[in-house]
Amino acid sequence: MNNSLKRFEFEKIMQIKSNQQFMADELSRLRDAGLYNRIPVLESPQGAWLVINGKKVLNLCSNNYLGLANHPVLIEEAKNILDEFGVGPGAVRTIAGTMQLHKDLESILSEFKKVESTLALQSGFVANQAVIPTMGADAIFTDSLNHASIIDGVRLTKASRFIYDHNSASDLQNKLEKAKDAKRKLIITDGVFSMDGDIAPIDEIAKLATEHEALLMVDDAHGEGVIGDHGRGISSHFNLHDGEVDIEVGTLSKAVGVVGGFISGSKVLTEYLEQKGRPFLFSSALTPPDVAASIAAVKILMSDDSLVKKLWKNGNYFQKALRDLGFDTGRTQTPITPVMIGEAKKSSEFSRKLLEAGVFAMSIGFPTVPKGMARIRAMVSAAHSIEDLDKGLECFENIGKELNLI
Ligand SMILES: *Cc1c(COP(=O)(O)O)cnc(C)c1O
Repeated sequence: MNNSLKRFEFEKIMQIKSNQQFMADELSRLRDAGLYNRIPVLESPQGAWLVINGKKVLNLCSNNYLGLANHPVLIEEAKNILDEFGVGPGAVRTIAGTMQLHKDLESILSEFKKVESTLALQSGFVANQAVIPTMGADAIFTDSLNHASIIDGVRLTKASRFIYDHNSASDLQNKLEKAKDAKRKLIITDGVFSMDGDIAPIDEIAKLATEHEALLMVDDAHGEGVIGDHGRGISSHFNLHDGEVDIEVGTLSKAVGVVGGFISGSKVLTEYLEQKGRPFLFSSALTPPDVAASIAAVKILMSDDSLVKKLWKNGNYFQKALRDLGFDTGRTQTPITPVMIGEAKKSSEFSRKLLEAGVFAMSIGFPTVPKGMARIRAMVSAAHSIEDLDKGLECFENIGKELNLI
């Protein structure tokens, strides 16, 4: 950071206006509760290692599962398109016209996900805001641990809400029966739950959806590039047939390594969303370099599954070693590795000590996870070597002992 900017920030410390005091009060409350989120500043690109405060630290925080955020082929493709097409899309696609590039991304995503059609959007979060309110459901059935972007999407509807117990097909069935008179039903679940790493029982949920003539929507943000053949995601993981999941929401911001989101399903779905989805109609498209890099990533995924295999090998190695040390890794079924701590303050302390020891792994507390279930969320990636992970494990062991957790 340049010096004049630093100086400016110093001088900016000023008195808080009385009408803004409530924000300062809330911030002190968060600090006291150990829930204040200090966002670390990275001085290096994403990768197995990062530089924070001038120090090299092991990165166990990113969703860059396959190491693609920094992959030479993605960088090369983004650069080429940058030179040819520039930096911006001009306006929203319905007004400025849509670049062939965006169409190419949508085709390759459809091929990858083995679906009829795909619509690309600015992020996974936005994709949920585009699709959920647009379905016009009068009853929505949503898993109690669904991602915030799903919760917010549901808030934009007038539907009655039925929140079913986490991953419980039987509770979902009860709720579907309660609402059997609803005309249009929509079931929504994460595929892989980002804070626990467990997988929704989509096979059972899809059966219920068929029986009750409900639309089924799965947010596969942590599934693409991770589960299924070549990382094709949740439908591939469960060997589901074409169209059993009506709506698949995806992200380009995690395993794909770039930024962006998409919605996959039938042709009629994406055509409808192009006419009705408000974030599609009223917010500009992804930038050309983002699209080019995403296309390159999906091509890599389709042609070669070695990164996905390495991700799983690393995840299994790391989780087994943590459990052998006596840590509780919750109910994960994927490389997402929660290290359960409990109290938010202790979890923050653990994370702080890890960073001092050279390991960057964030503490996650309320409201991202339920109260009393704070945890370190360690994300291994295909970019890590076994030596990297051993270095991380050594620090977990030392600090776990120091804090009487193991
Ligand atoms: C991360 C995540 C998103 C948001 O994706 P972005 O592309 O980062 O906006 C949406 N849904 C789920 C389940 C996620 O885990």
